Amino acid sequence: MNLSELHTGGKATIVKVKGHGGFRKRIVEMGFIKGQQVEVLLNAPLQDPVKYKVMGYEVSLRRQEAEMIEVAPIEKKAATTAAPHKEITVALVGNPNCGKTSLFNFASGSHERVGNYSGVTVDAKEGFADFEGYRLRLVDLPGTYSLSAYSPEEIYVRRQLVDNTPDVIINVIDSSNLERNLYLTTQLMDMHLRVVCALNMFDELERRGDRLDIERLSRLLGMPMVPTSFKTGRGLEDLLREVIHIFESREGHDEYYRHQHINHGHEIEDGIANIQRFLKGNDLLRLRYSTRWLAIKLLEGDKEAWQIVSALPEAGQIREASVMAVRRIKEETGDDSESAIMDAKYGFLRGALQEAGYTMGHKNDTYRVTHKLDSIITHKWLGFPIFLLFLWLMFEVTFTLGQYPMDWIEAGVEWLGDFIGQTMHDGPLKAMLIDGVIGGVGSVIVFLPQILILYTFISFMEDSGYMARAAFIMDKLMHGMGLHGKSFIPLIMGFGCNVPAIMATRTVESRRSRLITMLVIPLMSCSARLPIYIMITGAVFAQQYQSLAMFSLYLTGILLSVIMARLLSRWVIPGEDTPFVMELPPYRFPTAKAIFRHTWEKGKQYLKKMGGVILVASIIVWALGYFSPAGVADTLEDSFIGMLGKAVEPIFSVQGFDWRLDISLICGVGAKEIVASTMGVLYGGTDFGLSPLTAYCFLLFVLIYFPCIATVVAIRHESGSWRWALFGACYTTALAWIVSAAVYQLGSLFV
Ligand code: GDP
Ligand code: MG
Repeated sequence: MNLSELHTGGKATIVKVKGHGGFRKRIVEMGFIKGQQVEVLLNAPLQDPVKYKVMGYEVSLRRQEAEMIEVAPIEKKAATTAAPHKEITVALVGNPNCGKTSLFNFASGSHERVGNYSGVTVDAKEGFADFEGYRLRLVDLPGTYSLSAYSPEEIYVRRQLVDNTPDVIINVIDSSNLERNLYLTTQLMDMHLRVVCALNMFDELERRGDRLDIERLSRLLGMPMVPTSFKTGRGLEDLLREVIHIFESREGHDEYYRHQHINHGHEIEDGIANIQRFLKGNDLLRLRYSTRWLAIKLLEGDKEAWQIVSALPEAGQIREASVMAVRRIKEETGDDSESAIMDAKYGFLRGALQEAGYTMGHKNDTYRVTHKLDSIITHKWLGFPIFLLFLWLMFEVTFTLGQYPMDWIEAGVEWLGDFIGQTMHDGPLKAMLIDGVIGGVGSVIVFLPQILILYTFISFMEDSGYMARAAFIMDKLMHGMGLHGKSFIPLIMGFGCNVPAIMATRTVESRRSRLITMLVIPLMSCSARLPIYIMITGAVFAQQYQSLAMFSLYLTGILLSVIMARLLSRWVIPGEDTPFVMELPPYRFPTAKAIFRHTWEKGKQYLKKMGGVILVASIIVWALGYFSPAGVADTLEDSFIGMLGKAVEPIFSVQGFDWRLDISLICGVGAKEIVASTMGVLYGGTDFGLSPLTAYCFLLFVLIYFPCIATVVAIRHESGSWRWALFGACYTTALAWIVSAAVYQLGSLFV
């Protein structure tokens, strides 16, 4: 509980003081020290401030201040004081791919997925680590390069740090890219937080033969630093020990635990001081934020920071002071204040590293290999062919190798159906099991091997660092679509299955690009549509036109996605994306374990999402086809679904579809494979008697219309609103109708 909840006369032991360093310092100076007893002298419900007695003195605190002090009440009868439980909240902060999730997994024994592709962790994950009598509550935050308010991740991490006031921050650093990673550290220093640095990937630093005096650097930055490697778990215990140490000790009482101001040079420092004067006047502000940090953010023109102060009575004066400072900085440094502050921070870091004797070795330089590989893989002319080769290999292996287990599973499903068919008595239950459950779910499960193989490839590409290069070379092309290079990967995954593809859009930083990507993914012809293509082209088209027809369908999907992405980014979701760096992480050979885990995670999601929705949809479709208003239907034509097909027939007369095709389309709403199985039932075989034109228009419709229910649910889940899910469902169906109608009507003129 916190101190403000304690009633008059109550006694408690102080467990911890939360908040930023400046606030803690002030409170601690008043005598609110961990382990001390505090007594409430007067705490009326609406009274503010509240009076306390601590260390023999009477002090009063604001209610909001008291809320930041965690206490353990002392029972009156108990002779011994209740031992305060020792829980430490630890937030993991660092650049993407520095190893936060690996650290999290090692410490908490969890299996979060690690990736070599930025932005994999989007929301915070929580876990526990019990260590030397303490319970460390670990929060794995998204990776960020900085704590400005440009990307959702940055804003998210910042809010977590300010609002949830973790007790200690572990700043995870990729030591093989020290200067760049420490930039974030300088911002944590501004925020005045308790930080322990994990110098991760220390193995790579050593391999390269770099030199660094860690102790010296720790002292310079005023925070403990521990070399770690979360490939092996090295340094974990030392790191956790430091976390506890810093939690238990007081700032300034230890040479590795000091609040260090970064000197930004006199122009900027003057500006900070001028703004800070007004900020300090506001007690509520001081409580929540380090005023120095806030002043720096205001100078940087940070939108969120300005929102915070714009409501204050001092807003006018603050604005004036800031405008003046920005002008001065511009005059004296020739730079806008944001770049000037950044330059100052990098200057600070270069100095600190120099002093800590940091030199880069060249033995076995991992980056040299990376650079060499990159010069080939992202080469202007070579890049694309290599990439296409990769893609071709991926699909080739997926479809040829995947065919074997697919056949086995198909045989298994068939056997199960036959087995039930022979052993059970006839009736609705048997029909439901065979036609509904096994027919529906079975047709999805057969795709599992292919999906797993595809994901093994994708995991390997992600973890090795190749995917980042693929995104890099596709960036220009994707910009033409109004998208970002990173959208490319989810689109490719869409050829496998749209559901995980939509989940994979999480790697796209910009919400706008992400939304557009999600909405065009359904136009990527997923593997569930393949059986329909094969069945119909095989039955209707002459041999020599079959592959051409199939190929044209895939191509039409891609073309439409380009057009739709352009239209959406122009008219429906307009706006500018914040530019961001396309990082090229060093190549790493991923471990088999990581790939296996990653592949399985994706496969599991596929099974879970598809399994649940498909099962329900299959049963519903089956029931609608089995029953009629008069009970059990004699033929499908009399059933509810038959009636539905007849009812919608006029809508599809423009395309020349008859009621049987209409029913198949309606059934395909659950999952596209169902279109094929329904047609099989309705026509009693594959003699459809369709004209090639009608058949092709039907295939176009199947390609474009309503993404299956699981996909719509995935869009809802990832976009956070039903509105976009419904939009995706409606626009695709409308587009399908228009395209197929146009092709049919035009085609009729010639055929
Ligand atoms: P996050 O984005 O910060 O969560 O980073 P991850 O934990 O996902 O790690 C990114 C990649 O770096 C993974 O492929 C890890 O296996 C790898 N990695 C993590 N820690 C180390 C380390 O100490 N040394 C080396 N060589 N690789 C590491
Ligand atoms: Mg992560």
